[in-house]
Amino acid sequence: MSTTAREQFPLYIDGEFREGAGGQTFETVNPYTGQVWANVAEGTVEDIDAAVASARAALSGPWGQMTGNQRSALLRRLGDLVAEHAEELATLEVNDSGKLYKEMVGQTRFLPHWYYYFAGLADKVEGRQIPTSNPNYLVYTRREPVGVVGAITPWNSPLLLLTFKLAPALAAGCTFVVKPSEHSPASTAYFARLLDEAGFPAGVFNVVTGESRELGKALAAHPGVDKVAFTGSTATGARVAQAAGANINKVTLELGGKSPQVVFPDADLNAAANGLLAGVFAATGQTCMAGSRLIVHESVHDELVELVVQRANNIKLGDPTDPETQMGPVANGPQYDKVMGYLKIARDEGGTIACGGETPEDLGGYFIRPTVITGVNKDSTVVKEEVFGPVLSVYTFKDEAEAVALANDTEYGLAGAVWTKDIHRGHRVAGAIKAGTVWINAYRVVAPEVPFGGFGSSGVGRENGIDAVNEYTESKAVWVELTGGTRDPFKLG
Ligand code: NAD
Repeated sequence: MSTTAREQFPLYIDGEFREGAGGQTFETVNPYTGQVWANVAEGTVEDIDAAVASARAALSGPWGQMTGNQRSALLRRLGDLVAEHAEELATLEVNDSGKLYKEMVGQTRFLPHWYYYFAGLADKVEGRQIPTSNPNYLVYTRREPVGVVGAITPWNSPLLLLTFKLAPALAAGCTFVVKPSEHSPASTAYFARLLDEAGFPAGVFNVVTGESRELGKALAAHPGVDKVAFTGSTATGARVAQAAGANINKVTLELGGKSPQVVFPDADLNAAANGLLAGVFAATGQTCMAGSRLIVHESVHDELVELVVQRANNIKLGDPTDPETQMGPVANGPQYDKVMGYLKIARDEGGTIACGGETPEDLGGYFIRPTVITGVNKDSTVVKEEVFGPVLSVYTFKDEAEAVALANDTEYGLAGAVWTKDIHRGHRVAGAIKAGTVWINAYRVVAPEVPFGGFGSSGVGRENGIDAVNEYTESKAVWVELTGGTRDPFKLG
């Protein structure tokens, strides 16, 4: 592919599409074709400074004067534009990440609902009037935008994870600087065109792309940022939290996971097998909420593993843009090496590869067959660490107490599932699993209305849902003296 045919993606700062301060670009590779398909502006720390300054200035410009109702109208317009461009946005994400078009277009067609949902909340950012024991005062609270949000996103679902942050931040009246992943920057860069067209004032939304990890560091540590919203790995999240903490800034962290799927003997094993496929093979297992640990009652282990293996072997791998394809490649070289490394460790530790475990010869590249590993236990590396690929680890339990103990034997707590027809047990076990989301007889369903986030090393704070706007506001208490009199200055209250 010649350089001239490549798509070009500039930065977006202060309402302008521009090249990086150093004038450089970097290449982004389609993991399916192995071809460079776009040139993206290489931002610099200077560009981060400019973006933050522009976001700060926008707070005191027309955006800062807008009513919730006006912000709501802009968010609705943005939702409409996302709907109009859903197919284009999905194609950009497929080119960048190799994920299935079917999956990504499902996400981009769903995105407008986030903008509509938070448009509905933008004019409901309400304070309270608080009665106190002192009748001489009227006290009320206001919720005010926290200010400039610095967002850092990963490569696996760039626009969905951006939207989890952007929609409530805009509803609250914040301004925004995003640094997307170096592995999948294109859709976020393109997204700036939609905010521009929707009519958001200059500086409200800024995009700084770049290959250098210095950009994320600079944004997380920037003294001009008031809140950092991050999705990515737990190791990076800890560094981001430290940088934000040094500025006494708020953070939302959506990090890794090692989510359990607990299957009881009375479960509908057919449904559970499909839930397992959805949990760990859809999106090639590259989702934070991947249900990568199957904890199954010993009496149904063989039957369920057989069902899952049979279906896993029938998953159609191939071109992510083909509607018939069910699983694409993993997203990039380092990720491929990481997953293959884990498969070696699993074998070395005595695990049995019940299916998959290799790259299909006819496809090559970054493809890895859907893999089921049996014969592991709670201490195996593939059970403890996030693989972020199409790898399911299977081990057994004898009774409910053991199932819950195994499910919770992890530093993570993002999601989990319980499969049973016993309504009492379903709720009981859902209550006992330490995770931000638990599905009963289902897996991998999210919605703008429902809070999402993790316990433990899976994160801090919640995205989505009615309270997400509060994550982007500060509460201010206002005391109004009612008597008009004077007071004893040396007495409190
Ligand atoms: P990553 O942590 O390597 O990178 C995430 C982002 O952080 C990228 O934009 C990267 O450039 C940036 N970054 C890197 N070093 C930084 C630093 N020192 N300071 C600030 N920013 C820095 O993660 P990834 O490989 O892109 O994504 C995969 C990980 O994300 C997985 O662990 C997965 O579980 C997690 N994830 C979590 C969720 C969730 O909602 N909980 C969703 C998707 C992915």
